[in-house]
Amino acid sequence: MALQRSAGNAATVSLLNGALPGPTNLALAAPVLVVQRDIAPNNPLPDTGSIGQQRIEDRLTKREKNARLAAGFGAKLKATTWDEALVNKLVVDRRADMDAFYRKMYTKKHPTDPGKVDILVGEAVEKTVPSQLDTLLVQVNLDDLTTTPGLTSEMAKIAMKEFASTDGEVWLANALIETTATGNIAAVEAQLKRDAAAEWQRISGRAEGASFGQALSKAEKAAFSAQLKALPSLSRIAQAHGGDTSALKMTSAAGWRDGGYLSDTIIEVKEANDKKAIAPKDLYRRPIDDGSFRKRAFEADKMLRALVEPEILGQLAKPQLRVHPMKETKFRAFQSGEEVHLAADEPLPIMVHEVGHYLEDHGAIESWADIQRLISKRHQLAGGGAVTVTGPSGMRKEGRFAGEYKATGKYTSKAYDTGSTEMMAMTLEYLARPSTFEKMIEKDPLQAATVLRAVQPRAYAAQAGLRRFDKYLPS
Ligand SMILES: [Zn+2]
Repeated sequence: MALQRSAGNAATVSLLNGALPGPTNLALAAPVLVVQRDIAPNNPLPDTGSIGQQRIEDRLTKREKNARLAAGFGAKLKATTWDEALVNKLVVDRRADMDAFYRKMYTKKHPTDPGKVDILVGEAVEKTVPSQLDTLLVQVNLDDLTTTPGLTSEMAKIAMKEFASTDGEVWLANALIETTATGNIAAVEAQLKRDAAAEWQRISGRAEGASFGQALSKAEKAAFSAQLKALPSLSRIAQAHGGDTSALKMTSAAGWRDGGYLSDTIIEVKEANDKKAIAPKDLYRRPIDDGSFRKRAFEADKMLRALVEPEILGQLAKPQLRVHPMKETKFRAFQSGEEVHLAADEPLPIMVHEVGHYLEDHGAIESWADIQRLISKRHQLAGGGAVTVTGPSGMRKEGRFAGEYKATGKYTSKAYDTGSTEMMAMTLEYLARPSTFEKMIEKDPLQAATVLRAVQPRAYAAQAGLRRFDKYLPS
């Protein structure tokens, strides 16, 4: 079927925030079963404010868990003192990193003037490192950390930057986490959660574009679309759609955080072979057996590398592809947690669609917030109230936010109780399909831009011609 969902059903729950092995006094969140459900028409809209906050808190919890596991926790940093050696090493490493980073940048800018490069690098490093250094070098013990509101809040803010943004300071968050790795973490965590709430407010309070919500004139819309089409990766995709099979070969080899390709992760869902779960007449496994499913998954990965910049893709591990031995007319694809479930003959654009859900759910929270803002604004402008409206034909039982979606249709604003949306998925799907590529950009450049800025922040920022249209964006 053409329309897909991101939600699992009761059989496809995912377990987040699993219980941690080790000491029991760490007061981490209890395991939470997350089931994403549709919202029927005329029901309250999802509370995206508290969902956003929850997403930040989940990141905090996950991040703490990962950092502790990585640090071999249990193997003990003293709870009452900073580990000075660790902190100092981090600072030294950080200065070296920043030095290398700026040196590269300024050498490019002033290739014939190494003296000038030295000066500029020195200034830049001094500018960026000491403010963080001050925070690190404050001598505190855990009591201070939990009882000094200003300090705790400051630390939490820095940690939040790491957890909530795409370019955070991993090293600093690690220092915070490792320093508080044992002992009374509950109090620290409570403070972090309060700060998470404040951070969510900050994110959701980002200034809107001055003309956000205003209709674009026909000429303005055409000019906006032309600028989007001029993004280098979109020109390449257009060439590929036009039949130039070599166009996507230029795409960066850098990919997922854990390396490899989507085609490496395929797992056949064996349960589907169970006669109780699937009627023999519905079994269809030729594309699995002849390798064409795998080949398509590889091509979908290539398309995703063209659509998503390495800096964004590289923050995420590959999702796992679960192939069901059925035709797409019998099996409705979906994404749940880190799994993407697909039919054996799933077309490439729908593969991209489902991975799009994964990118929206696991990517930067600001990008998700922008999508929410655009959907909410269109809902308001269309006179939508506190409840969902009826879904498009064929989806009448699936509630949605009001508003028009001239490229991808009403399904785009389907409402899920987890706050996930169809916008990232639909937009990437439409860009990945030759017959809908132009429609996506020409009919709704604002939707396209909101998603493209999320997946290609560097290219979007680098293209001067797009600045004129920033005022229309959600933030
Ligand atoms: Zn979907």
